[in-house]
Amino acid sequence: MNVLLFPKHVKDLISEFNVEHRPLMRLVIDELDRYWNWRNEKAKDCDNCFNYADEQYSKYILWKKYKFCGEWCRHDLEDHIRKSYRNYIKCKTLRG
Ligand SMILES: [Zn+2]
Repeated sequence: MNVLLFPKHVKDLISEFNVEHRPLMRLVIDELDRYWNWRNEKAKDCDNCFNYADEQYSKYILWKKYKFCGEWCRHDLEDHIRKSYRNYIKCKTLRG
């Protein structure tokens, strides 16, 4: 990752650190970069089976958008989420 491509405020922040820390900082930045790439790739996966998701099967379930690879996965996870939510509400009500 090229540090020079960062926005100015990030470069200023990096320059505030001791020069001896920069090699370690590079390790941290590389790890952040790998994590960022992993998150971006993960964001394309089906939330049920982790295959590649298709945008046409995306759906909001209880205020959160989920991505699915097909109709079966959408139905399977939606059923699970709604049952879990009902059990959660029931337990919360019983506990008072
Ligand atoms: Zn799936």
